[in-house]
Amino acid sequence: MILTDTHTHLYYETDTQKLNHLIERGLENSVSRFFLPNVNVSTISLVNNLAALYPQNCFPMLGLHPCEVKAEATEEVAAYIEELQAIRKAMDLQKLYAVGEIGIDLYWDKTTLKIQQEAFLIQIKWAKELNMPIVIHCREAFDEIFEILEQEKDEKLRGIFHCFTGNLQQAKRVIGLGFYLGIGGVLTYKNSGLDKVISEIDLKDLVLETDSPYLSPVPFRGKPNESSYLIYIAQKLADLKHVSLDEVARITSDNSFKVFGI
Ligand SMILES: [Zn+2]
Repeated sequence: MILTDTHTHLYYETDTQKLNHLIERGLENSVSRFFLPNVNVSTISLVNNLAALYPQNCFPMLGLHPCEVKAEATEEVAAYIEELQAIRKAMDLQKLYAVGEIGIDLYWDKTTLKIQQEAFLIQIKWAKELNMPIVIHCREAFDEIFEILEQEKDEKLRGIFHCFTGNLQQAKRVIGLGFYLGIGGVLTYKNSGLDKVISEIDLKDLVLETDSPYLSPVPFRGKPNESSYLIYIAQKLADLKHVSLDEVARITSDNSFKVFGI
């Protein structure tokens, strides 16, 4: 059985021994594919180092997280423009599997909406130019994200809506745009309502993720998350769909292969 964690910030663990243990515990639970989303310029080396350490298992992406899109000017250019330029440069130096994580987050800061939209659009163009999928972070910003995706929709635009927690109508809209829904620990939370939404969605439209170290699934809710816990999310999905864990692993890993090309 092969489980694929399509979104994990494993690299935040900088103690090499602990990091090795995180990978080992993943492998013990059949989680053998880890896709690493970038956050800002300072995380590029963390993503790259982990990917270099485990080239068979860890797959890097680069992008500027919407919460890191900031206006403050350091010299003559705005901070986010500088970040974007450095990330774009780094993209030419290595093999990547997606542009991410990118998007819009209006939960933490509404005042930066305009520059978040601009940064999102710029990075969508990169993905098209480099023929890569995008991994979207969307928090309290469905309308704003859809507006840009609908405007940018073409045969090249594709990817994952990471940590999807929306309603059925939003899920169908995401799928209609050719995107996969990234399903994480929230699926295991009582009263999240996500189980009802996902029971109406076909497995062919889903990929699994932990978003570790955040959003631990039950029975580890509230504790730091790790990729080995993906198996609890997969099992919850298997129960919900009345299929075996193997079947969930096979289909969701297959979907991850289709979107990332590996
Ligand atoms: Zn993330």
